[in-house]
Amino acid sequence: MLTNLTEKANRTNCACGRAHAVDMGDIIIRPNALDDIGRIVQQVSPGRRVAMVCDTNTYRAAGERLELMLKGTQVDLTTCVIRGEEPIVPDEKTLGTVLLAIEPGTQCLIAVGSGTINDIVRHVAYKMSIPFIAVGTAPSMDGYASSISSLVVDGVKTTVQGKLPAAIVGDTEVLSKAPEHMKAAGFGDLIGKVIARMDWRLAHMVNGEYICEYTIGLVQDALRRCIDALQSSSPDASSSGGAQASRSGSQCESGSQCTSDSPYSDETVSAIMEGLVVSGLAIAMVGISRAASGAEHHISHFLEMKALTGEAPAHLHGEKVSLGTYIMSTMYHKVFSHDFAEIERLMAAPPRPQSPERRVARLTEVYGRTAPAMIQRWRSNLPGEARAKYIKEYLSANWERLQQMVLHDIPKPAELTSLLDAAKSPYRFQNMGYSRDLVEDAIVCSKEISQKYSLLYILDEIGLLEHFAHETVEDLA
Ligand SMILES: [Zn+2]
Ligand SMILES: [Zn+2]
Repeated sequence: MLTNLTEKANRTNCACGRAHAVDMGDIIIRPNALDDIGRIVQQVSPGRRVAMVCDTNTYRAAGERLELMLKGTQVDLTTCVIRGEEPIVPDEKTLGTVLLAIEPGTQCLIAVGSGTINDIVRHVAYKMSIPFIAVGTAPSMDGYASSISSLVVDGVKTTVQGKLPAAIVGDTEVLSKAPEHMKAAGFGDLIGKVIARMDWRLAHMVNGEYICEYTIGLVQDALRRCIDALQSSSPDASSSGGAQASRSGSQCESGSQCTSDSPYSDETVSAIMEGLVVSGLAIAMVGISRAASGAEHHISHFLEMKALTGEAPAHLHGEKVSLGTYIMSTMYHKVFSHDFAEIERLMAAPPRPQSPERRVARLTEVYGRTAPAMIQRWRSNLPGEARAKYIKEYLSANWERLQQMVLHDIPKPAELTSLLDAAKSPYRFQNMGYSRDLVEDAIVCSKEISQKYSLLYILDEIGLLEHFAHETVEDLA
């Protein structure tokens, strides 16, 4: 188990040239961590008036127990249980429900839940300028240690300012009882960090973007511990191609329906929760999400947007990241299996020539009313003559180095699917209800959502994004 997480996130003389300061209190991940709630509230709250926010499931999982524990203390507690159709959406209605339930003069909030509850409470705490405590009920997403909330405003997924939690409580007894597909989603969110690392290094090498290898190291070490824990508790994860061949396409691969033995030991659940918290800390340390998210997350965001408009099925964030990671691993290995002379030949005569008219039409169709902004972003990143020359020269000079990095840093698709099968994390688009066209659109169009430089950008700059998107989907299919 990781110790001194907060100390690790604070570093005055980092080799990246910056000081990292994260103002966070206790991070407690262990069995019966809920028992500490009285002490933690006393530590972080300036007063007695506290509001706890849960949904019906998380109230049962931990809220009820916390309520009983706090009722025996000096705390004046209000409980807000968000009811309604599952899954609860972090939109204006939910935000209003929470605000209506909170008593005037509330001095501290407790978020009991995972993604949605934390997104809502984090933003409310920010608006009210009061501390909040995150009590995790499922190791399903990496937003516990985050200062940003992802809300749905006017039907559109929007990033808004939130507050970093004053403390994080992960009771492994509670986390272990979370539904299996939520643990698998947490693992999926974490495995995506291998793509995030490569995309960040690519952006640093090609564009001189700021990078912090210390932060990358913290996240990758946490991921390594998760994989080790999974492999030591799940025999399928320690074998390679064989596991993939025997289990891919099985019922279990859809994640939530699986009823066979759980691959999640308490140790693995604890390692996933720590990894997810570390990912959030890594974002807080450098003020950007580079160590935690790359093109695999853009693909996930794209699919989430399509789910919100009813054009695609809904899946948990980490499940979509798992698919995004599989797509990007396939794409990275495919692109860098060519030598640069072959890439040059493809650039000279692309099998799918990229036409601006066709791309504008595609972005218009894919993004609907937000298309003008996305088209503007795409246009602003089109390379001029000097940039195109630079990219070509850069790739020519560094291709073999990049090939080595991909081979060394990104698990090959077969290794990845073996791990994801063992984790029962979904990654086949067909089984997740996505069409082939939608996945190809996600690869070609998702980068406009965040404008973070990645393999997708570099391929678009050299005119081969549409070609490799198509080839990658062929492979996945
Ligand atoms: Zn640093
Ligand atoms: Zn994520």
